Amino acid sequence: MSQSPNWAALRFSENGKRLHCESCGLPMKEGLRVPGHRPCCSIVCLECLLFGFGNCRWCGAQVEGKRGDTRHCSPECQKKDAAARKTGPSFGNGDRLLLYLAAHFPAIHMQITGGEHGTDSVHAGANRTV
Ligand SMILES: [Zn+2]
Ligand SMILES: [Zn+2]
Repeated sequence: MSQSPNWAALRFSENGKRLHCESCGLPMKEGLRVPGHRPCCSIVCLECLLFGFGNCRWCGAQVEGKRGDTRHCSPECQKKDAAARKTGPSFGNGDRLLLYLAAHFPAIHMQITGGEHGTDSVHAGANRTV
């Protein structure tokens, strides 16, 4: 990947409302948000939220209540996670987040990466989930 991801697709701001990062708790005026999740102040915090306690470290799937390895949803994820740790991409650089978005929100993933399929459909503003 030569192009750095454009995270603008996740950026949002709530006019005037004071928000707190769900992960680190810092107050913020604008932040980053993945649909269905609480807002965060940074990519690192988003990754902590998505892949933190109770979630698979690799794909973000819920692993709460699981026995044995509670950090990965499957041996496959454990393997990929271990491989990633060895070859470089470290936690917090957005790589995991991109994988997550590709799997769950392909449209957003495309906006961030520039998209190989070159879609023209631009959704005005952030999708508000109530
Ligand atoms: Zn934060
Ligand atoms: Zn997983």
